[in-house]
Amino acid sequence: KTKEKDDYYFESYAYNDIHETMLKDKVRTDAYRDFIYDNKDLFAGKTVLDIGCGTGILSMFCAKAGAARVIAVDRSDILDKARENVFQNKLDKVITCLKGRIEDVTLPVAQVDIIVSEWMGYALLYEAMLPSVLYARDRYLAPNGLLVPSHANMWIAPVSDSEYIADHVTFWRDVYGFDMRAMQDSIYADARAVTLPSRSVCGEPCMFRFLDLHTVRTEDLVFSAPWTSKVAAVTTASEKNSLVDGFLVWFDMFFARSRVEPSIKEDSTALGWCQEDKERRVGFTTGPFSTETHWRQVLFLVDKQTKKMCTLGDAEGQNVGGVIEYVTAEGHARGLNIKISWAVGEGEKQDQMWLLH
Ligand code: SAH
Repeated sequence: KTKEKDDYYFESYAYNDIHETMLKDKVRTDAYRDFIYDNKDLFAGKTVLDIGCGTGILSMFCAKAGAARVIAVDRSDILDKARENVFQNKLDKVITCLKGRIEDVTLPVAQVDIIVSEWMGYALLYEAMLPSVLYARDRYLAPNGLLVPSHANMWIAPVSDSEYIADHVTFWRDVYGFDMRAMQDSIYADARAVTLPSRSVCGEPCMFRFLDLHTVRTEDLVFSAPWTSKVAAVTTASEKNSLVDGFLVWFDMFFARSRVEPSIKEDSTALGWCQEDKERRVGFTTGPFSTETHWRQVLFLVDKQTKKMCTLGDAEGQNVGGVIEYVTAEGHARGLNIKISWAVGEGEKQDQMWLLH
């Protein structure tokens, strides 16, 4: 049964559109390119494994950067195109394309120096591709080998956006004169990938999770983490009457040159996470304060039919917070259940569960 589901998953990567979207996401693709081309010394002469190579773009970056050998693996039929792309660009002496799940293929080498992969999903962990990368890391990566990217962190913030609510919630109350409020249920049950304007963020973003990809284990990907955010001050009367509508989650990715770079965590706790610093460490954010990416952000709308939410006027200056939990979703092989609990100040503790699928 799971196999059947996975077949759908890999089929979804067989067509051009999704790869076009990813390649045109400049924030994403530039970050990989810049790290690889600006750190050629790391790649020169090395053996690289590209997990989920898609069109082969990351493998070709690595080959151009001087890698001695690149093994590009993908289970999707897109692999046939990767092979052609590699051939067209005369990189077939360096890049070996293998079709199959990374868990199933037999690599032509016992060990690799670098693993490069673009495995990130909505809210970072949707799609559950990271476990495949960790599997390969534990099996093939040399001691002291490098993962590209190397670190990730995850953010949550309360949001208030009456325009979004009018467009996507209240909308259903009168559709061509018909009451379609039945449609509203799934709005609260499902988390959604959206791009909200940064002004919707009504409290300080809170970094609730930091992942060092060299050491994180698959079991760490099911977790619960405390979060807290100070609700921003508001000025106008209409802002004071606005409700906190829910929560927004996003992530940042970092590309470190070596395994141990603890300062990443300190840097990134500041809202102005570093785009590029003196050590030429690059990264990117999928958050609402920077250029939009194809991941957008993930919105968790609070069901105001059953939960109470206070106005910004009541909440301003207070801490809102609780726990955010990532759980695998039963019956959705690659889905994710996310539960968020919250209380405003000393107020009542509430929670809600969303499905990301
Ligand atoms: N590296 C490409 C494509 C990234 S999309 C780029 O950056 O543009 C992720 C790819 O990983 C998809 O093509 C998908 O088919 C592949 N993939 C996901 N899980 C995999 C696994 N376990 N084994 C092999 N390929 C996998």
